[in-house]
Amino acid sequence: SAPILEVNDLKKHFPIHGGFFGGTTGYVYAVDGVSFSIARGETLSLVGESGCGKSTVGKAILRLFDITGGQVVLDGQRIDDMPSGRLRPLRRRMQVVFQDPFSSLNPRMRVRDILAEPIRNFGLASDAADIERRVGDLMDRVRLPRDAVGRWPHEFSGGQRQRICIARALAAEPDLIICDEAVSALDVSVKAQIVNLLQDLQKELGLAMLFISHDLAIVEHMTHRVAVMYLGKIVEVAPKRSLFAAPKHPYTEALLSAVPVPEPGAQRERIILKGDVPSPIKPPKGCRFHTRCPYAFDRCSRDEPVLRQTEEGHWAACHLHDRPAAENPLAGERGA
Ligand code: SF4
Ligand code: MG
Repeated sequence: SAPILEVNDLKKHFPIHGGFFGGTTGYVYAVDGVSFSIARGETLSLVGESGCGKSTVGKAILRLFDITGGQVVLDGQRIDDMPSGRLRPLRRRMQVVFQDPFSSLNPRMRVRDILAEPIRNFGLASDAADIERRVGDLMDRVRLPRDAVGRWPHEFSGGQRQRICIARALAAEPDLIICDEAVSALDVSVKAQIVNLLQDLQKELGLAMLFISHDLAIVEHMTHRVAVMYLGKIVEVAPKRSLFAAPKHPYTEALLSAVPVPEPGAQRERIILKGDVPSPIKPPKGCRFHTRCPYAFDRCSRDEPVLRQTEEGHWAACHLHDRPAAENPLAGERGA
C-alpha cells in the first residue's frame, strides 16, 4: 500500500536578518533536500547530532512553518501547500510528542481535561460518557491508573508526564506519531520504559512513527529503519539491522563507533571525528562531510555525492561506493 508519509526534496532555509538595513544577509540551510517515506505501521528513526536539521524536518511535516521547497504528502495528499481549513482534519492524523514533558502539559489542567481536549476538538466522541470512556482507555494504553485522571501534571514524575503526553497524542487517533527527542530528557531507567511503551503501542495500534533522536543506542531498540542526517541532508538510510551491522557512510560509522555494545569483543574501535560540525550558513562544497571525513579524497571537496543504493534498501551518499571494493573501506558485509 501507499506510504502514510512521503517527504520529497524538502528544504527549509531560514533567512538571517542583519546588516545596516536589516535585510536578509544569508540563510541557514537547516534542511536542504531531504527525501524519505514511512510505510503504515513502520517506525523510521531520524538521527544525527544536534543542529543537523532533524527537528526542523519534524516541524516542517507538522506544518509549524512554511517550507522553502519540496513536498510533504500525507496518505496521498500533499499537505505542505494546503490551506489551513482543509488541513484541519488531516492534522488529527499526525500527532507529536516533544522532548520536555514538563513544559508541554498545561499545569492548570487536570489529566482528564488534557486528554479530553483533543477528543472534543476533533469531534471523536458522541457524548460526555464516551469522552470519559475514551479517557479511561487512554490511561490503560499508557499504563497509568485510571483514577489518576483527576490529578494535576505537577503530581506526576517526568516519565509519567511523558506517558500523559503520549496518551494525549493517541487521543486524536493518529496514523503517524512524530516523537522529537521524546525520551532524551528522561533518566536512563525511565527512558527504557517509555521506549518499550512506544514500541508496544506502535505494534498494538499499527502506528507509523517518525522517531527523531540523537541517540543511536535508543534507536536500535525500537526502529525498523534509520535515516542519518548531517548538515541538513540525509547521508544514509537503511533497515536497522543492515545499518548497525555494516554502515555504508563514514559519518554513520563514526556515530556507531560511539555506541556501547553489551557483548565483549564486539565494540567497534572508536572513531573520533576531527573538528566541529561546520555552520549550516555556509555548508562545505562537495560532500558536506569532507572536512571531517577520515576517508576523504580529492573528489569529495568538488562533487556532491547523491544517495544511491549499495544493497537492497540500503542507501548511502558517499563517493567511496564508486570505487573498487579493495579501495572502499565500507564495502562488504561488516564494513571492512
Ligand atoms: Fe567521506 Fe568523501 Fe564519502 Fe564524503 S564522499 S563521506 S568525504 S569519502
Ligand atoms: Mg532537536
